[in-house]
Amino acid sequence: MKLNELTIHELQDKLRRIEVSAVDIVSSVFDRIDAVEGKVHAYIALMKEEAYEQAARADEDIKQGHIKELTGIPIALKDILCTKGFRTTCASHVLHNYIPPYDATVIEKLKQAGAVFTGKTNMDEFAMGSSTETSYFGVTKNPWALERIPGGSSGGSAAAVAADECIASIGSDTGGSIRQPAALCGVVGMKPTYGRVSRFGLIAFASSLDQLGPFTKDVEDCAIMMNVMAGYDPKDSTSVPMDVPDYRSFIDRGIDAWTVGIPKEYFIEGIDAEVMTAMQETIKLVEKAGARCVEISLPHTDYCVAVYYIIAPAEASSNLARYDGVKYGYRSSKCRDLLEMYKKTRSEGFGAEVKRRIMIGTYALSSGYYDAYYKKASQVRALIKRDFDQAFTKCDVILAPTTPTPAFKIGEKTDNPLQMYLSDIFTISTNLAGIPGVSVPCGFAGKGLPIGAQFLAGHFEEGKLIQIASVLEKTAHLKSRRPNL
Ligand code: GLN
Repeated sequence: MKLNELTIHELQDKLRRIEVSAVDIVSSVFDRIDAVEGKVHAYIALMKEEAYEQAARADEDIKQGHIKELTGIPIALKDILCTKGFRTTCASHVLHNYIPPYDATVIEKLKQAGAVFTGKTNMDEFAMGSSTETSYFGVTKNPWALERIPGGSSGGSAAAVAADECIASIGSDTGGSIRQPAALCGVVGMKPTYGRVSRFGLIAFASSLDQLGPFTKDVEDCAIMMNVMAGYDPKDSTSVPMDVPDYRSFIDRGIDAWTVGIPKEYFIEGIDAEVMTAMQETIKLVEKAGARCVEISLPHTDYCVAVYYIIAPAEASSNLARYDGVKYGYRSSKCRDLLEMYKKTRSEGFGAEVKRRIMIGTYALSSGYYDAYYKKASQVRALIKRDFDQAFTKCDVILAPTTPTPAFKIGEKTDNPLQMYLSDIFTISTNLAGIPGVSVPCGFAGKGLPIGAQFLAGHFEEGKLIQIASVLEKTAHLKSRRPNL
């Protein structure tokens, strides 16, 4: 196997034994990028020069005997994370020339852990979308089928890992943007508990829902990334001052005598038949490993999409007010006065989906409608959270499909926003409740398209997710399959 195809833990072993150097690893990643990036388009910008410098420094550190959690490991970053001195666009025209003066906390943490950054990955504009088609920089292709979407909004991060154009990557998840593309690209993706990972330096979409998390080639790597990313940050008032366990210690602990909840509202008509079969197989594997699967109910599931599409746009309309052509980013030229400058900047700077969200959100927050929409949605959100609290009194974790179908074709849903929104039907509730979730590969559809299973747990129980995901990974035997690019 080539170096760029290996996992973090496999590469760490090789680096420790001095079988390879960090520069060897980064070269193999950039060779792969040269070979396939033209087909996949996972990246908005590459950080090749910086990456080689970081790798050379990593090799120095290794020589001195200083090897940290991610020393010499090439990691790709969703272009929603502020990187000091390096253009950060959020895949929007409005930020196409924005160079942040500071690093996101997660970037600092990864740097401190010795990581090598390969580049900034493509995404839906401002993370609004499920297919990476709303990017100002063009669509990313699914490495398993180039005529299909990789999912979104972190489609570039998922595709980069699946295509071995990096070893692991970072994404953000507001309503499914890590788990959904992870499922559609056949990799592992975790959305941690709201408050577990600092969001300082993450460009805000919907502040009560946004979380950062990793994409990896296997579950052990997910644990390694979480060890580095998680933890309290005084710069993010929503991050929680709580100890971070060693997530790696949850691998291979087994799930004997666990109870796994199967929510009946997630196994409904309309799910793709092959997804359903893969889920039934997953239930069998989980039971064979010693767990008991029981039916549970999350009665307010039907309201999740509607509630999300009030709350997320409302928060977005407020967060995106700052892009006015004055403070930073794009400014329209030839304007007669300030008002025209605001109008033209925002009309020219944002794409159609972002404008749609701003309009929905502004409407939902406007006086006279606030109570009927935003307030009502917030009340129903509390009921959705309560459904999960009650479910977790009956089970250790919940198992559900990550997506209702495998990856769809590019262009298939672009004219129908509602159809697009429905592709998040199984991921959104997690964000509304603030709980953690992980998507793990659990099967393949006939056309060779990956299918993902999703485990959900109570607040701050990411360890349990790693524990059960590692069981599924070991028993499902899918790790060796790779896209044929
Ligand atoms: N697809 C959802 C949306 O369009 C979720 C996006 C996300 O998680 N960032 O809002």
